[in-house]
Amino acid sequence: MTAYAGGGLRGVTDDMLLPFQIESLGLRGRMARLGGEVDAVLQRHDYPEPVARMLGEALALAVLLAGALKYDGVFTLQIQSDGPISLLVADVTSDGHLRGYAQFDAERFASAAAARAQSGAGIERSVPGLLGAGYLAFTVDQGAHTDRYQGIVELTGATLADCAHTYFRDSEQIETCLKTACERVALPGGGSVWRAAGLMVQRMPAEGGSASEADRIWQSLTEDEAEDGWRRIVILTSSARNEELLAPELSPHELLFRLFHEDGVRVFEPHAVTDRCRCSRERVDAVLSAQPRAELDDMKEPDGAVVVTCQFCNRAYRYDDSDLDALADATRH
Ligand SMILES: [Zn+2]
Repeated sequence: MTAYAGGGLRGVTDDMLLPFQIESLGLRGRMARLGGEVDAVLQRHDYPEPVARMLGEALALAVLLAGALKYDGVFTLQIQSDGPISLLVADVTSDGHLRGYAQFDAERFASAAAARAQSGAGIERSVPGLLGAGYLAFTVDQGAHTDRYQGIVELTGATLADCAHTYFRDSEQIETCLKTACERVALPGGGSVWRAAGLMVQRMPAEGGSASEADRIWQSLTEDEAEDGWRRIVILTSSARNEELLAPELSPHELLFRLFHEDGVRVFEPHAVTDRCRCSRERVDAVLSAQPRAELDDMKEPDGAVVVTCQFCNRAYRYDDSDLDALADATRH
């Protein structure tokens, strides 16, 4: 979590997930606010702008969804589709380490963008336009010998938030109000940075027994109070503009107060989110060790080395002949 140290913006925090509760209704929510860390991910990849924006939203969504689960391991959000962008992967560990990448067809992408420019249409931002038809899936990997929890939903609606909303409604029977945003934001001194954010409020089904304080408040309301309250929160959440969600000079605390102050909002301890990949030489060793030597030789670059580049962080792992021999030796033992 980095304190924003820009002129006059001291004390405003970025790169975090902030859980909160709407006091009078006992509703729980989360806000994800990503600054320098998401900028680092998106700058490193240098994708066309609409691809970067969609990946930024997927990263914010992954942080929000992961924050709603209790897990110890890796939460992965994956979108596979038949559009110009064919794959988006965003994952976040329970320690808040975030990474992601996209696959797209550069030619298809360029021709679609050119056609839009010619017809005077703006930059494509929609899920149908950029991703087409496909699925959004997520898994929670808590290591060997544990179940992988998996959710999957068809891509529906104009935004990734719409798809997640449909998932919660149809698969989990949880009413959810959710927004994500990602934009390149101009800096006062010139230049620009990527920023991303997400806001989610959920109306959890009543559970007997282990009800929390929030559940008890929600359950103590009459049906009309609960219904009116939920409708009000949906409208307020939807009223948050992208600029507000992303503005570096508006802290998440201030934004939540601005939106929900009439119902009272209590903010809990934030969780830091960091741009950090989990790749390592050891992991690449393990993958290469499983390949026959002849196949590794076929992978050699003109200089005679095998180079494996991490799709998430672009880090390159080089293996020359002596490294490959050492791998083969280690495998035999
Ligand atoms: Zn990596």
